[in-house]
Amino acid sequence: MLIVQKYGGTSVADLERIASIAKRIIRYREEDNDLVIVVSAMAGETDRLLNLAHSICKFPDERELDVLVSTGEQVVSALLAITLKNMLCDAMSLLGHQARIITDSSHTKARISRIEQDLIVSALNKGKVVVVPGFQGVDEKGNITTLGRGGSDTSAVALAAALNADVCEIYTDVDGVYTADPNICEKARRLDRISFEEMLEMASLGAKVLQIRSVEFAKRYNVPILVKSSFTDGEGTLVCKEVADMERMEVTGVTYNKNESKITVSKVPDKPGIASHIFTALSDAQIVVDVIVQNVSRENFTDITFTVANADGKKAYKLMEEVAGKVGAEKVAIDENIAKVSIVGLGMRSHAGVASKMFSVLAKEGINIEAITTSEIKISCVVEKKYGELAVRALHTAFGLDTGAVEEEK
Ligand code: ADP
Ligand code: ASP
Ligand code: MG
Repeated sequence: MLIVQKYGGTSVADLERIASIAKRIIRYREEDNDLVIVVSAMAGETDRLLNLAHSICKFPDERELDVLVSTGEQVVSALLAITLKNMLCDAMSLLGHQARIITDSSHTKARISRIEQDLIVSALNKGKVVVVPGFQGVDEKGNITTLGRGGSDTSAVALAAALNADVCEIYTDVDGVYTADPNICEKARRLDRISFEEMLEMASLGAKVLQIRSVEFAKRYNVPILVKSSFTDGEGTLVCKEVADMERMEVTGVTYNKNESKITVSKVPDKPGIASHIFTALSDAQIVVDVIVQNVSRENFTDITFTVANADGKKAYKLMEEVAGKVGAEKVAIDENIAKVSIVGLGMRSHAGVASKMFSVLAKEGINIEAITTSEIKISCVVEKKYGELAVRALHTAFGLDTGAVEEEK
């Protein structure tokens, strides 16, 4: 079998842990598997490097940021290859430009366009374990790029797709995908399986266990992902195509994202073209907008509210001040004190009343809803940040996730 394994930051946090994953890799190798190993930087290293750059100036050059932060993964790749060789397992590291992970040139959030796998394949054919640093790529001009926070997951799945691997295993500090973040909801349960669609929603709504783009790749190329713990042995969670016998509750999971800012442009003249003005300015700046609410018009004026990732908050605010000046809006306000709580599940398609149940659960807890957005398989509410975790736990209980479908049916 050809297996791609990815080890996250906590799994490679020090030499002891690197030695422990090396032993696991050797076990797989002894069973005659071909292995491509994708590694993250040591836990905390990417943040440390970013802080260094931001202590120099507020907006460090993004090309240079990529040169800087990609070193975290490079260090671990070399350390793992040295460890494997020291344990008499033939291994070789191939950096992003050597493994030919080609991306576009959007520094700090580049997208993989293709992988030219010749070098990897020839190393595998020589019996080597290939170690590739996650998160990094190279653009057509040879510049180092990075794939956005959590991007090593995407490196792994993209490699698995390009190499036509049998499975992509993601090793992390939890033993699978849970019905809610187990670190904030102690009653969360591990799911045996979850469909690509649901995982895609959960990842985009704050379940950082997998980076969203990794799930997009997996879905597009039908690469099954197995999420497992690098610390314990267990079955993990299989992320795969929807199958008929999957558990079908109204809701599969509850997610929580406290890394968004809410921006309100008030007293905007209510006439055609204004929303397009606002959102074109944001998309031209590559800022992804999430929840959008337009208030009912009062005397030909309206308020437009939307959320963006905290990382883009200040940039979006500045842009909106410019736009407000041009379109004659009264003022722009930014609120970082919010959290977005969401429920996700394919089961919503066939159950009525899910939204009203969510709203009444929040009301019962005295939590005010500031904005709402829905899709076929998710409902999100923006609430005050201090109520975010409480909301997750209340929804988890109300939708029967504490006990789970199987037990509930007995
Ligand atoms: P890694 O460094 O291995 O990439 P991450 O920190 O990026 O690990 O992702 C793992 C974390 O994701 C867990 O520690 C957990 O707190 C968080 N998480 C959020 N939602 C979920 C969920 N639904 N299931 C499992 N983990 C979740
Ligand atoms: N080291 C990068 C980060 O912290 C990429 C990753 O770990 O996936 O975001
Ligand atoms: Mg991660």
